[in-house]
Amino acid sequence: MKPVIALVGRPNVGKSTLFNRLTRSRDAIVADMPGLTRDRHYGEGRMGERPFLVIDTGGFEPVAKEGIMHEMAKQTRQAVAEADMVIFIVDGRQGMTPHDKTITDFLRKSGRAVMLVVNKAEGMRYSAVTADFYELGLGDPYVISAAHGDGVMDLVDEALNLALAQKPVEEEPFVDLGKTIKIAIVGRPNVGKSTLVNTLLGEERVIAFDLPGTTRDSIEIPFERAGQQYTLIDTAGIRRRGKVFEAIEKFSVVKTLQSISEANVVLLLLDAQQDISEQDAHIAGFILESGRALVVGVNKWDGLTSSRRDEIKIDLDRKLDFLSFAKFHYISALKATGVDQLMKSINSAYAAAMSDLSTPKLTRALIEAVEHQQPRRKGSIRPKLRYAHQGGMNPPIVVIHGNSLDAIDDNYKRFLEKHFRETFALVGTPLRIEFRSGK
Ligand code: GDP
Ligand code: GDP
Repeated sequence: MKPVIALVGRPNVGKSTLFNRLTRSRDAIVADMPGLTRDRHYGEGRMGERPFLVIDTGGFEPVAKEGIMHEMAKQTRQAVAEADMVIFIVDGRQGMTPHDKTITDFLRKSGRAVMLVVNKAEGMRYSAVTADFYELGLGDPYVISAAHGDGVMDLVDEALNLALAQKPVEEEPFVDLGKTIKIAIVGRPNVGKSTLVNTLLGEERVIAFDLPGTTRDSIEIPFERAGQQYTLIDTAGIRRRGKVFEAIEKFSVVKTLQSISEANVVLLLLDAQQDISEQDAHIAGFILESGRALVVGVNKWDGLTSSRRDEIKIDLDRKLDFLSFAKFHYISALKATGVDQLMKSINSAYAAAMSDLSTPKLTRALIEAVEHQQPRRKGSIRPKLRYAHQGGMNPPIVVIHGNSLDAIDDNYKRFLEKHFRETFALVGTPLRIEFRSGK
């Protein structure tokens, strides 16, 4: 599980600046989720080999004075609840304010590990910028400049060490999970996730049930169906209670991101009785960014009029067109219809995501593509594509070697992707194309 760091502090201390610096790095899942989370932002950062999630609590609207404190309290509380540790930022140029003390009290009650960080300290002496803040009783402050980057690497390194120290040691699963397909079932509240889990586990013998854990742990539930082994990754708040699964928590972005990142195949559930919402689209966006294989279940298909069925199909086409690489299934978790086909698609999406593509086959497919359509010249330069090899699985990454490949435009990249997808029958998984130029 990736450690989760919350950035907390009053407006204008530099939270967003630090957030951007931490997440701007490669393939950040920077989520701007209006409506869903008010003004919290989620991002992924990476320190060497260590990935982590960051929550920025900034950006709330300064309305009435009481409104500010109210909103701040809410944002802070929610972010802190989801985090392993808190980076509490204060402004070294402005010095201490009463709000800083209020936030300190919050944090103390939360019981989370806190690092006090004095920002905007570029060009200032340590003793001068920190003097004010000892009064908060949070120990020696860290000193950074989020804008210039000074001290940020050390800060993150220390924050990750602290976050890991907070985490319980993860238990070893007691079955061999080597060949099982790890599935995360995600979707907004009430789409039918718990019902589907019940249907999946109720019909077949459950080999084992939850490993113990706190609410922040992921729970892995192994099960078998039609001879295939699966592990259900549950961080999304589906919990076993006796024989019934109940959603015990509200929707959590962090848990959704975590379960997606631990899965091989994500099953996105939608509710056919409702229109596709912004929240559905956001979750779909996360899955796409993650590169995981995907199958979409359009649930509650039972008892719909045929005009409603047409309506929802049009809505899906319009709002989720970027998921066209995935198979859509119209199911009823309650009546257990369509579930067998859905599981078959999960198997094939997994197989596609794990495809082993040899260099000769990839290179042949590349040559075919180029014969069919050459990349356009850019000025006097024509990109030259030479050979391809596989750079990774889940998602499959095709690395193309050649010269002047940075002159290749997005259209041509999409053409190549489509060609590889069709040649190797890659259904249900994103496919990434990377270019490496000889010079
Ligand atoms: P937030 O409201 O806490 O998210 O704060 P922002 O990140 O939006 O920053 C508020 C202001 O402080 C902006 O004008 C930033 O450019 C500025 N700022 C942020 N970090 C630094 C820093 O390290 N040094 C200086 N001098 N200014 C900074
Ligand atoms: P979750 O919050 O995503 O776990 O959703 P639940 O599994 O708790 O389901 C929410 C509601 O939708 C419950 O009242 C279910 O009985 C109902 N529901 C779930 N699946 C179906 C289905 O396939 N058809 C119909 N008609 N209702 C369903």
